[in-house]
Amino acid sequence: MQFLTRRDRFLIAAVLGCAAVLAVWFYILPFMMPPSGNDDLVCVTIDGESYGTWPLSEDHEEDIDTPYGHNHLTIRDGSAQMTEADCPDGLCMHQGRISRPGEMIVCLPHRVIAEVISRDGTSQGYDSISQ
Ligand SMILES: [Zn+2]
Repeated sequence: MQFLTRRDRFLIAAVLGCAAVLAVWFYILPFMMPPSGNDDLVCVTIDGESYGTWPLSEDHEEDIDTPYGHNHLTIRDGSAQMTEADCPDGLCMHQGRISRPGEMIVCLPHRVIAEVISRDGTSQGYDSISQ
């Protein structure tokens, strides 16, 4: 007695083939191209003055030295975090990771603000605030 007919085998092969294609599409392609979903930026200002802007999609380490003190910003895996600071309260290091537009890390003693902004400036951009 035969459980699988030739047509059943063909169907199973077709399903497995589709699954393989989908697996390649969803698991391998994201590693080959930069993540398209998160091209937001981290914008750092010191005392209200623009200091620098970096894409969240690229890992980056930045030493931020101000007249008020030292901070170290780490961008990794699509989010940013204050990993070092010699401010007296250390609150900025406890504010965790930011990755979405509008989220920010504030170091009050050093007057440093790191904020996530979207690349097209639609949310939380300076234009929308000033209007
Ligand atoms: Zn701080």
